[in-house]
Amino acid sequence: MKKIKLFLLLPLLILSFAFIQGKVFENPEKLVNNHEEHYYSMEDFATVRKFDIHIHLNTEEEFFMEQAQEDNFRFLDIIDDRPFGVPMKKQQKIANGHLKHFSKNMALATTFSVKDWGKANWAKNTLKNLEKSLSEGAVAVKIWKNIGMDLRDENGDFVMVDDEQLDPILDYLIENNIPLLGHNGEPRDCWLPLEEMTFSQGYYGAHPEYHMYLHPEYPSYQDQIDARDNMLEKHPELTFMGAHLGSLEWSLDELAKRLDKFPNMYVDLTRLSNLQFHTFNDRQKTRAFFIKYQDRLIYGTDSQINPTKDPEAFKKSIHDRWISEWKFYVTDEEIRLANFGTLSGLKLPTEVVDKIYSKNALRLLGLQNW
Ligand SMILES: [Zn+2]
Repeated sequence: MKKIKLFLLLPLLILSFAFIQGKVFENPEKLVNNHEEHYYSMEDFATVRKFDIHIHLNTEEEFFMEQAQEDNFRFLDIIDDRPFGVPMKKQQKIANGHLKHFSKNMALATTFSVKDWGKANWAKNTLKNLEKSLSEGAVAVKIWKNIGMDLRDENGDFVMVDDEQLDPILDYLIENNIPLLGHNGEPRDCWLPLEEMTFSQGYYGAHPEYHMYLHPEYPSYQDQIDARDNMLEKHPELTFMGAHLGSLEWSLDELAKRLDKFPNMYVDLTRLSNLQFHTFNDRQKTRAFFIKYQDRLIYGTDSQINPTKDPEAFKKSIHDRWISEWKFYVTDEEIRLANFGTLSGLKLPTEVVDKIYSKNALRLLGLQNW
């Protein structure tokens, strides 16, 4: 008799557990105003105005601009202080050239160098350079992972992003209402052994020099996250966008904690495979996350636009990527996640799609009247 009862109860228990899981991110206000939801289709891709917040223009060629116009995308070109590829000054020059012709299509995030870090005039000179870039049209400032993972002070210690020497820069951004975009740290995979990684085995397998699990003398994953959180705690008025899901791509719960704690924090959605992995594991919870934080999430691809001999093929690859990601957000069609299996798209309501695909980016960048 007891066995039968348990057998009957089990499906109920599973159902109620699934219900609680799905409720984790539900916003009570949204439940009250639960009006009828509307959805976009694949056909709407061409007509909905969209924004890609994470693009790197590494060429003076204009094929990307053509494709963005064809697909109804505007975008943010982001300049980085990278030690490889196109140097910072060249990126700036490319961007200024494009801005002249495509000021209705693109916005620009500038950055600053840490070459003279520790010298007496570093902050003063950096502010002067930033002022110049902003007067030439930049609307945001990027801070890159070289702070936290490469730059060292005169004692040989790593400089972290909450270092007080950055305070005058951050205060300037706050006073002038300029958002800071932060790529701080790396995906958590970077600090795990290869066999425990979710997605990055190929990359870190091929680049052991960047695989932090092999370099315990470097700051830990938690050190990076703590420094970023501490910087935001010290500067609560700073408008901040964490690139790559704020380097918390592996856990929606951890990301939600930061979005709750820092009301001026946004994140870009450039770790799509992690978002699809969360959906694969628990679609209801992932969808609830998007609905709860619909004002804080911003679509982006982190596309590197390099010179090419075949611009048509490059354009097609960009178009195909934008289309396939649109499918994930607006439909519940089947999507294959390599090495895991299939999942259904999130089919978010139109008002949520409009926010993550455009409104939030324009608000972050102060371009509402664009
Ligand atoms: Zn990037």
